[in-house]
Amino acid sequence: MAGEQPFVEHARDGDVHVLRIANPPVNTLRTEVRAGLLDGIKAAAREGARAIVLIGSGRNYSAGAEMTEFGKPRKPPSLPEVFDAIEQSRIPVIAAIHGNALGGGLELALACHARVAAPGAQVGLPEVKRGFVPGAGGTQRLPRLIGMEALRLIVSGDPVSAEEAVKLGFVDAVLQGDLEHAAVAWAREHAGDRFVLAKNRTDKIAGYDATKFDDAAKKLTARSRGQESPKGCVESVRAAFTRPFEDGLNVEREQFTRLVQGEQSQALRHIFFGEREAVRIPDLPADARAATVSKLVVIGGGTMGGGIAMSAANNGLPVTIVETSEDALQKGLARCEANWQRTVSSGRLSQAEYEKRRALLTGTTDFGKAVGEADLVIEAVYENMEVKKEIFGRLDKVARPGVVLASNTSTLSIDEIASATKRPELVVGMHFFSPANVMRLLENVKGTKSGPTAIATATEVGKRIGKLPVLVGNCDGFVGNRMTGKRGPQIEKLLLEGCLPQDIDRVMEAYGMAMGPLATGDLAGLDIGAAVRKARGTVAPVADAVVAAGRLGQKTSKGYYDYDENRKRIPSKEVEQIILDLAEKMQVRRRKIEDGEILERVLLPMVNEGARILEEGIAYRAIDIDVIFVNGFGWPAFRGGPMFFADRLGLKAVRDKLAHYAEATGDRNLQPAALIEQLAKEGGSFATLKGPGKV
Ligand code: NAD
Repeated sequence: MAGEQPFVEHARDGDVHVLRIANPPVNTLRTEVRAGLLDGIKAAAREGARAIVLIGSGRNYSAGAEMTEFGKPRKPPSLPEVFDAIEQSRIPVIAAIHGNALGGGLELALACHARVAAPGAQVGLPEVKRGFVPGAGGTQRLPRLIGMEALRLIVSGDPVSAEEAVKLGFVDAVLQGDLEHAAVAWAREHAGDRFVLAKNRTDKIAGYDATKFDDAAKKLTARSRGQESPKGCVESVRAAFTRPFEDGLNVEREQFTRLVQGEQSQALRHIFFGEREAVRIPDLPADARAATVSKLVVIGGGTMGGGIAMSAANNGLPVTIVETSEDALQKGLARCEANWQRTVSSGRLSQAEYEKRRALLTGTTDFGKAVGEADLVIEAVYENMEVKKEIFGRLDKVARPGVVLASNTSTLSIDEIASATKRPELVVGMHFFSPANVMRLLENVKGTKSGPTAIATATEVGKRIGKLPVLVGNCDGFVGNRMTGKRGPQIEKLLLEGCLPQDIDRVMEAYGMAMGPLATGDLAGLDIGAAVRKARGTVAPVADAVVAAGRLGQKTSKGYYDYDENRKRIPSKEVEQIILDLAEKMQVRRRKIEDGEILERVLLPMVNEGARILEEGIAYRAIDIDVIFVNGFGWPAFRGGPMFFADRLGLKAVRDKLAHYAEATGDRNLQPAALIEQLAKEGGSFATLKGPGKV
C-alpha cells in the first residue's frame, strides 16, 4: 500500500547510498517512483554520500513509463525533473541494471553518470513499437553516447544485451555476482572518476552527414510502411546530431506529444495490452492443471506438422513426428532441416544451436510406440473428417490414460473428432497458422466437452513453444478464417463492379496489411477455395472463372496475377479480360470505385462476423479477435485489428454503412449483426462491451 511500503527504498552501504525502485512487477516509473527518486537523491546529498547506486528490486531494473498514466493529467515530478536532479548532482549516480531496462527505464539510466549491468540484462528503447518515440531524452542522450548506432536501436525498438551495450558503448561494465553488491563496490572504486554526462558528450555526434543519415534512415524504415512512429524516431535522432541538447529535447517532446495522442499509438497499445489479456481464460477453474509435457508427438509431418515440430524443438521441447511411410517421414524431416539450414545460412542461427534443435526432433512410422510414450499428441494429417476420426480412435487406444489429444484442423468440428474417442474431455483443437514455425498465433479450440486439463495443457504448451494461444469456440473456421471468409462475396462484387485485383490489394496494402487478399489467395492456392465452394455448393463467378482458366495461384505461376520467375506479381491482362467478360455477361455496369469504399467493403463484412462471433460466444472478448488478426493474418498492429477499426469508426456509422452496403449490393450477410444494432443504439463500443463472455 502507498504510504506503508515506499516505492523507492533508500539503503546505505557505508558512504554509498542505494536507491531501490520497488514497484513490482516491472518497476514502472509511476508518480510515486519519480517522487521517491527525487527525494532519495536530495537525502543522499544531505547525508554526504560519496556515490548513489540506482537499482531495481525484484527481477527487473525498470520497464519504463507507466502507460496507464498516459493521457491523464500529469502529476509532478516529471521524469525530466528527476533527470535534471541526477545530472546536477555532484555525487555520481550509477545505474545498476538487471533484467530489463526498457523505454523510460533505460532513459533514466542514460541520464546517470555511468551504467553497470548484470550479465544478460536487456536494454532498449521499444517506444516505436507502442507508436511513439522515447519521450524523456533517450533520442538525445543515446546518440551522444554511441553515434549512428542509436538510430538503429531507436527505430527498430529491439533491445540488446548488456554485453552488446558495452560493445556499443552505453553500458560501462558487466558485473558478475550479486548486482547490488558488485555495483556498490564499483561505485566506491569509481566515485572519484571524472564522469562526462551523456548530454555533454559531443565526440559521437560530430561530423553529421545528411546523405549518410538519410540512407540509413531509409533502410531502417523500409519495412514499416504506413507507420508514423519510426519517422518520428528518425527526426528526433536527427536533432541529436544537428541541434544543441535542449533544442533536441524539444524536437523529441513535440514528436512524442503528437504521436502518443495519435490513433496509431492507441492501436499499438490496445494490441500490447490485448496480447496480455487474450491468453487469460476467464472461466478456467482455479484448480485446472496443465499436464507435464516432456515429450510431444505430432501425427503427420507435412507442411503443418513439420512447422509445429520445429516450434517445439526451437523451444527445447523434444518432439517426434509420426508418418505413414518411411518415404513421407524422410521428406518431412528433410523439410525441417532445410528450413533450419536457411536460417543458419542467413546468419540468424548458429550451427551449434541448429544441432541442438535437430537433436530434439525425431521421427518414426511406429504409431503405437510413439503415441504410447507421448505426454501430448497434436494431429496434423489431411483435412478429412473420416481420416481424423479414424486416427483419434487409434490415438485413444494407445495413448496413456489422461494424455491430451489435440487436432490442428482448420475447419472441422472438434466435437465430432472428439466423438471418436472415449476421452472427449481431453480433446481440444490447437489451430496453428502457416508457416507454423513462424506464425505466433495459436487458436486453441474448445469443444463442447473439452475439459480444464485439455485447455490448460494446450495453453501452457502453446506458450512454451513460442506461440500466443487464444482460446476460441468450436465453429466452422473458428475466429480468423470464419471472418476472412466473409469478405469473399464483397471482393467478388467489387471485381465485377469496377475493380481489378491490383486495385483491391493496393488499398489493403496501403492500409498496412502484409499482403492484399487476392495476392494472399494466389499464395495459398486458389484450388483450396474452389474445393470448399464445390463441397458447399456455392459459387464465386470471378474466382471460379480464374480457376477454370487453369490459374491456381503462385504454384502455377498465374492466379489473380501473373508471376515472373522471381515470383514477382504482375497485373494480368487475361484476368482483366475474364472480369470484363463476366461483368458484361452478368450485366453489371462497371464504374470507378473510390479507395474508401473498397476498404469498407473488405473490412466491414469481417467486423459484422466478428460481432456475431461475440454474440455466439466463440470469442471471450473483442480484443481477442484483434489479437488474432494482428498475430495470424498480417493485420498491422498499428491499425489495432478489425474490432478496433469498428470502434474508431463508431458503431452507429458501422451499422449505417453495413445496412447501406447490404441494400446496395444485395448481400444479406451484411445486415448489421444484432450486437452492432444494440451497441449503436446504446452508444457503446466493442472495447467497453461488458464481458468477458463465455466460450
Ligand atoms: P499436408 O498434406 O502437407 O500434410 C499432411 C501429412 O499427414 C502428410 O505428410 C501425410 O503423409 C500425413 N499423414 C496422413 N495420414 C496420416 C496418418 N494416418 N498418420 C500419420 N501421418 C499421416 O497437410 P497440411 O497442410 O500440413 O495440413 C495438415 C492439417 O493442418 C490439416 O488438418 C489442415 O487443415 C491443417 N491446417 C493447415 C494449414 C495450412 O495453411 N496448410 C493451416 C492451418 C491448419
